[in-house]
Amino acid sequence: MKPLAIFGGTFDPIHIGHLSVAWEAAELLDAEVRLMPASVPPHRSSPTASAEQRVEMLRAALRGQSRLMLDTRELDRSGPSYTIDTLHELRREFGDRPLVLLLGADAFAGLRSWHRWRELFDVTHIGMLNRPGVDACIPVELERAVASRRTDDPAVIRSRPAGRVIELAVTPLEVSATRIRDLLAEGRDPRYLLPAGLFDDPALLAPYRAMPSA
Ligand code: ATP
Repeated sequence: MKPLAIFGGTFDPIHIGHLSVAWEAAELLDAEVRLMPASVPPHRSSPTASAEQRVEMLRAALRGQSRLMLDTRELDRSGPSYTIDTLHELRREFGDRPLVLLLGADAFAGLRSWHRWRELFDVTHIGMLNRPGVDACIPVELERAVASRRTDDPAVIRSRPAGRVIELAVTPLEVSATRIRDLLAEGRDPRYLLPAGLFDDPALLAPYRAMPSA
């Protein structure tokens, strides 16, 4: 059975870094990948764009391909969306199908701050995506917790539902949503850092543009 990989984030906005690493992860694992926007991220400040605006951008970005899908279940819940709860829900839905939580190297390095983080390995594999230009130093306690779980073989991920950690050597792209928000706020046009669909409707990027002065 093809693994189901979940790539969560604020996607404020979705950019080519997200799309490219998610696409390559789908190829490397032979997985279905779902992009899952978070509503009220438990460990960061509120996004600039609303949940509805971020979903509209995701829809525009994903148009014209069928390997990456959108899953908005966390937006339908009220309050903070904890990944562990989402994964338990997916486990109930998908039985023994392998689940893979995709995390950029920076997100993986910060895993210990996540709600019930040790429980994640009971429900999912983790696929770590390399990411340049970020602090991705793995704390000793985290390395200890994952050392015996590491594999570099996608077949191992496909052969069981959960519990292993694989590093996925995706093409490094030093792109971040923070940088893109900054460029847009300065009135710049980061055309090729964003998927083309985001330029189809000027309303999509409006939340990030500086208000014209009166
Ligand atoms: P921000 O700059 O607002 O923090 P971001 O670009 O890190 O945003 P998020 O939506 O916070 O994007 O990230 C969602 C997931 O995507 C995280 O696991 C993050 O590590 C990963 N990610 C984002 N950009 C990249 C990239 N260029 N390469 C690899 N992983 C990435």
